[in-house]
Amino acid sequence: MTLVGIGYDSHRLSPGRRLVLGGVEIPSELGLDGHSDADVLTHAVIDALLGAAGLGDIGEHFPDTDERYRDADSIELLAGVVSRIADGGHLIVNVDCTIVMERPKIATHRLEIRERLATALGLAPGRVNVKASTGEGIGFVGRGEGVAALAVASLSIPA
Ligand SMILES: [Zn+2]
Repeated sequence: MTLVGIGYDSHRLSPGRRLVLGGVEIPSELGLDGHSDADVLTHAVIDALLGAAGLGDIGEHFPDTDERYRDADSIELLAGVVSRIADGGHLIVNVDCTIVMERPKIATHRLEIRERLATALGLAPGRVNVKASTGEGIGFVGRGEGVAALAVASLSIPA
């Protein structure tokens, strides 16, 4: 049996914050604002995995009112979710995701992001696809106010 989950997240761009996408820090004048490291891509991947496993959403597992998660490394949160899914007897098959942002362009970082996420997911990089899109100058992404990310994950239950 195969299970599929979807994840979506967005964060505001602000001065004085780091821009971390899929665990990779990208040089940028503006970074993402949030309680944790605001790694919007990793958050979308976490929600896709939790969705596929029927385990709710990221806010239930890591509330932004909980001081333990202030400036948290989202890759560590992802690793926790991955082990929780393994404990439940599910295998992660693949993850596909899209970063939607205007700038900076992330083409030169895409392979590193893919490898970082793959390591955290315990998957070969070929099972983790990372795509990039822009806001075409419209909406909060297009105006450079924030970044969005989408992800899907599929899980299987071994026979
Ligand atoms: Zn988030």
